[in-house]
Amino acid sequence: MGEILVFLGPPGAGKGTLASWYREKTGAKHISTGDVLRQAVKDETEVGKTAAKYMNAGKLVPLDVILDVLFEAVPDFSTGTILLDGFPRTVDQAEALEKRLGKKNLEVDRVVLFEIPDEDVVKRLSGRLLCPNCGAVYNLESAPPHREGLCDVCGTELIRRKDDEPDSIRERLKVYWDSTSPLVSYYRDRGKLVPIDASKGIEEVRSELKNISNL
Ligand code: ADP
Ligand code: AMP
Repeated sequence: MGEILVFLGPPGAGKGTLASWYREKTGAKHISTGDVLRQAVKDETEVGKTAAKYMNAGKLVPLDVILDVLFEAVPDFSTGTILLDGFPRTVDQAEALEKRLGKKNLEVDRVVLFEIPDEDVVKRLSGRLLCPNCGAVYNLESAPPHREGLCDVCGTELIRRKDDEPDSIRERLKVYWDSTSPLVSYYRDRGKLVPIDASKGIEEVRSELKNISNL
């Protein structure tokens, strides 16, 4: 049976890493609004042009833009398991999602909260490397590529994200605590929240996720 899952947590908590693994394991449809926006920036679409300014500064893109992006990426929430990574990020977004799902008698089933201290986030993001071609994510310390600087999957030269510079990381953490963290109580009050300790190593976080997903 299908499910609607949300991965919630600060930038750098490991949501994308775990979401890729979960998708491979289960065949879930993985939607990272950050990935969709980065593709739009690369393609220089209107959305991409608007979004780039916000993304580079570590700010959230405006509500109407992100809703268009999400609902275009997922026109139908009723088939298969859908894993939302990086959405919702504000209570307004969560309410818009609830409204959209409600029309089809659907709701978010579970929200996995990735708990991790800010210091660990700063460390992880400072070492993050991204494949600009296939989107694979690496880390200089915890998940290095086999060949230095090159993607294991497609061989493309890896890059650092513009928003993984120190000023941007600080801003994104502030945005998380100001605008996104209220979603913790929003989803806890609705009985949806499942916290996991995301500060552990990748294998350990995977097994926590396995335990809560009956994988
Ligand atoms: P998010 O999608 O939450 O922003 P990512 O999945 O991109 O986070 O992970 C951020 C960085 O931390 C990446 O460089 C990734 O390789 C690394 N990483 C992810 N999970 C772990 C973990 N459990 N332990 C150590 N490093 C991790
Ligand atoms: P991420 O890849 O999840 O770290 O997202 C990268 C950037 O994309 C964020 O810093 C925001 O600028 C933008 N973004 C991604 N998802 C959202 C969202 N749900 N709401 C607003 N902005 C978003």
